[in-house]
Amino acid sequence: MSLTDKFGRQITDLRVSVTDRCNFRCVYCRSANPETHMPNGELLEWQEYERLVRLLVGMGIRKVRVTGGEPLVRRGIEGFIARLNALGVNDLSMTTNGYTLAERCNGLVAAGMNRINISLDSLNREKFERITRTKTFDQVIAGIDAAQASKLRPVKVNAVLVRGINDDEVEAFAEFARDRDLIMRFIEFMPLDADRAWTRDMVVTGAEVYRRISAIWPLVPVVHERSETARKYRFADGSGEIGLISPVSQPFCGACSRLRLTADGKLRTCLFSKDDHDLRSLLRSGASDQEISDEILAIVAQKEKGHRINEPGFLPPSRTMVSIGG
Ligand code: SAM
Repeated sequence: MSLTDKFGRQITDLRVSVTDRCNFRCVYCRSANPETHMPNGELLEWQEYERLVRLLVGMGIRKVRVTGGEPLVRRGIEGFIARLNALGVNDLSMTTNGYTLAERCNGLVAAGMNRINISLDSLNREKFERITRTKTFDQVIAGIDAAQASKLRPVKVNAVLVRGINDDEVEAFAEFARDRDLIMRFIEFMPLDADRAWTRDMVVTGAEVYRRISAIWPLVPVVHERSETARKYRFADGSGEIGLISPVSQPFCGACSRLRLTADGKLRTCLFSKDDHDLRSLLRSGASDQEISDEILAIVAQKEKGHRINEPGFLPPSRTMVSIGG
């Protein structure tokens, strides 16, 4: 069986959010004000995730990325990774802020995780603290060190660039990639922040990042899968790689292969979907595997053509990034 939408896109990637809680409050994601969280009873239990992922793997999902909120704040995550591994997911990864990664890395590898993405939005301690509203710079760098020393490959570091906040660090991030031989990815700021402060002029485009880096170090394109979010480049003269993720300035919806499962069991066919689809109720109402699979097929068939950020009258979804799962 395969998951195909009405535009003929094959769905092979699943992002699984395991919590809407996070120990960071990044300015482009969360609010400084208190936020409400999903009550524990609304979160999917591990065995509920396992059942859904098993069905989805049977329908053609090949890559699973565990995310949140911050996935490492949910107790039992290593056991969950092991369950996913046992289901035969052949590309198992996680996106994390890295805060507790140094001490958790070995456990994640032992559980069967293949690769990791770590968020790092500034190389300047003081600015990092302002962006994340935490004092955790050393721990995150230690997390990156631990990931690089482990079997996890590739190790990708993600920075969301916001004009006026960290756009002065493009070249420094490129140097970081070169010095450490890692993949540094630059993500355009999307209108998914809790404060609803996003404006188009805060977006630092992938084209600008390319221009600035290649003016110093010539870049060579790296072949990528059509459905990959990043345009990838290596440095002509040395190690390290950069990735440009440009959902605002160069949408890649036409090759989208992703589905998202939220921590409260909603299936989303796009980050910017207006509606999500309640699989938790279906699970908890005693539906059979066949009924759940039929519902998933019907949901996927209706996946939207694109995110419409650049269309007049665009409105962001009511859920923000932290409660969807990035
Ligand atoms: N807590 C983990 C972390 O920090 O990576 C995983 C969840 S976080 C929501 C996933 C990714 O979404 C991170 O790379 C984060 O930087 C990114 N993100 C959050 N808000 C965003 C926004 N408004 N625009 C673009 N990316 C965003």
